[in-house]
Amino acid sequence: MTDPKTNKLLQVTGLTKSFGGIKALQDMSLDIKAGELVALIGPNGAGKTTFFNCLTGMYQADHGQVQLKGNLLKGLKPSEITQVGIARTFQNIRLFDQLTVIENVLVGCHASLQSTFIDAIFRTTRHKEEEEEAKEKSYQLLEKLNLLQHAQSKADSLPYADQRRLEIARALATEPKLLLLDEPAAGMNHSETAELDQLILQLKEEFGLGILLIEHDMKLVMKISDRIFVMDRGAGIAVGTPSEIRANKKVIAAYLGEEIEEDAGAENA
Ligand code: ATP
Repeated sequence: MTDPKTNKLLQVTGLTKSFGGIKALQDMSLDIKAGELVALIGPNGAGKTTFFNCLTGMYQADHGQVQLKGNLLKGLKPSEITQVGIARTFQNIRLFDQLTVIENVLVGCHASLQSTFIDAIFRTTRHKEEEEEAKEKSYQLLEKLNLLQHAQSKADSLPYADQRRLEIARALATEPKLLLLDEPAAGMNHSETAELDQLILQLKEEFGLGILLIEHDMKLVMKISDRIFVMDRGAGIAVGTPSEIRANKKVIAAYLGEEIEEDAGAENA
């Protein structure tokens, strides 16, 4: 699962991206081990989503490099990056609304199928076997994400929290090594967020995933992250464990302010 030389799953070095005069990313370097959950936090406009977009090939960075298990990802298209092992969810949910829940997950499975277009046309044995396996895998994922009862419903008929979990199921169907979650708790209530905590930790354990998490819910971030990477104006300003970040004056000034002290107080109460 990792680069045998460095023991790193993801290594990002010097990533830089500008939009006209806006420096959205400035010399960003970050690494993640397999089985590690790193949160990426920072104020609005800090560059978090741009970072995800550069990792997943939606944007080409101006400078810098991204390696997954020691392999450079330069110039790969988003679909190729999915195939090498990076999957993501989106801040604004992007499901296939008119497909059913199970069909949405099957779309994710097809990213890793071996059979060709010709196999599909002639319905070869290989194609049929793979389709069966994909179906079985999709149902298992729905069960894991507590969505089995909705398998035949249209994706857009699901409550918001279920749609967010469906996006995670679809991402997992591509068999990623690294999962990028963009604000998975946005729009969820307290109990839904608490369930999400547990789910993310369970998935990390079970699949040995590296996870990079963008999230504004600091309680969630502090509870489940192994490390936290803080961005401000396109650059990294601090990295450390939740307790190190909570005590970091630079971070408090740039972003966390009183919010974090309140959370810490609540946890200690
Ligand atoms: P938020 O927490 O609000 O989602 P963010 O940390 O994800 O913010 P980004 O969305 O990455 O921040 O934006 C970083 C900067 O880059 C912002 O100034 C934004 O306006 C700019 N930006 C992002 N994408 C584009 C684009 N496609 N074209 C022009 N500017 C962009």
